[in-house]
Amino acid sequence: LKAEREYDEVIYTSPDGIRYDQHEANRLSTLGNLIILCGHYKGIDYRIREHLVTREISIGDYVLTGGELPAMVVADAVVRLIPGALGDEMSNVDESFSTAEDGGLLEYAQYTRPAEFNGEGVPPVLVSGDHAKVDAWRRKNAIERTCRWRPDLIETARLTPEERAYAQEILDASYSQSEE
Ligand code: SAM
Repeated sequence: LKAEREYDEVIYTSPDGIRYDQHEANRLSTLGNLIILCGHYKGIDYRIREHLVTREISIGDYVLTGGELPAMVVADAVVRLIPGALGDEMSNVDESFSTAEDGGLLEYAQYTRPAEFNGEGVPPVLVSGDHAKVDAWRRKNAIERTCRWRPDLIETARLTPEERAYAQEILDASYSQSEE
């Protein structure tokens, strides 16, 4: 393959590689050609890793049988970032971990039809037609969900001082609850 064209990275999927995340997917999506090597059994000869591989990526702290699924995970997260891969309706700017508009938070809760499910309606603000209020609700919801499910992300998230104080309030409340 390398005789045919230049490659920007030769990736080896491995449980002891760097942990794959959105930041790495964003970086890979800006490159041209990638090779992804999939190991099997005990992996691949260490000399290949030392001499040919330029990046080692793990998709999590668990061991799979082979590198095919990790390679598909790596490729999927990259390909969807390539302009034109997603339609407008699936725009990825404000998804979880995106470093763009939401500053590295989890995504806000999504609602769709029907208007009522199991006796529960969608939050009224979302059907108010007031875009500024909808945006404010989504931002607040993203902060709340991140505090609840991934508090580790709050420290590096891009938050205004008011938002940071709000996040701290939520984290303090959940800490004192868990102490009780
Ligand atoms: N002996 C290796 C170790 O302990 O690190 C595990 C080898 S695993 C059974 C076989 C192959 O599956 C690896 O070479 C790698 O390509 C792939 N693989 C397994 N788990 C993975 C993970 N969490 N992330 C990325 N690749 C993984």
